[in-house]
Amino acid sequence: MVRMYVKKAYGYVLPYDKLSSAENSLRTHYNPSEVDGVYHKRWVALLVIQKSDGSSWVRWTHHPEGKTHCDECLKLDGCWFLESKAPKWPHHPFCHCTLDPIDYASVLTLAATYSDYSKYDPYLFDPDNAYKHGKNRAFESWGYTVADARWLQAEIEKQALEKYTAGEYTLGKLNEHGQRINIEVTIPRKDRMGNVSFTTGWMVKPDGKLKLNTPYGGK
Ligand SMILES: [Zn+2]
Ligand SMILES: [Zn+2]
Repeated sequence: MVRMYVKKAYGYVLPYDKLSSAENSLRTHYNPSEVDGVYHKRWVALLVIQKSDGSSWVRWTHHPEGKTHCDECLKLDGCWFLESKAPKWPHHPFCHCTLDPIDYASVLTLAATYSDYSKYDPYLFDPDNAYKHGKNRAFESWGYTVADARWLQAEIEKQALEKYTAGEYTLGKLNEHGQRINIEVTIPRKDRMGNVSFTTGWMVKPDGKLKLNTPYGGK
């Protein structure tokens, strides 16, 4: 079965099968009254997202029964994953955690990415040559400078959110600090034509949130 969702351009999401209850207001709002029949396919500024059952989302929920809970399960509590890309579950013998289904509409509306500006300036671009990690040299070779830090921050947050909600991430290390995931980002070169792709590293936080660990984890 394929479930469909309709997302308005400004972020409002309705499950496709719930549209009938809202059809009058939506049709009036988006379509000339003479349009009839398959009007739902004619809406402007709507994005129709198809999602198969093979890409269900789940919420990792920790249940504090007994004393068998561990730091990793506590860090995973409340985190959202594509079911096929969730951390190993059950996590260990006597793990009381559950993977609870969440509506994809919630993923689309509530997921968010955030990053500290200091991860870009001064850390990544290292204008004072204080960190000496050399990561700035990759970006400088593509024509980027510390003046692009704000743009890069917004672009990385935007692309990572799109990829995460599309399930395009890979699981990284899990420990007592949490579950890391990696997401590939592509930006245009500024020194010449073409694009470059690199890996960004994120920590999964509860309720669909991702916090940036590193803006450049390598190519
Ligand atoms: Zn545990
Ligand atoms: Zn557990």
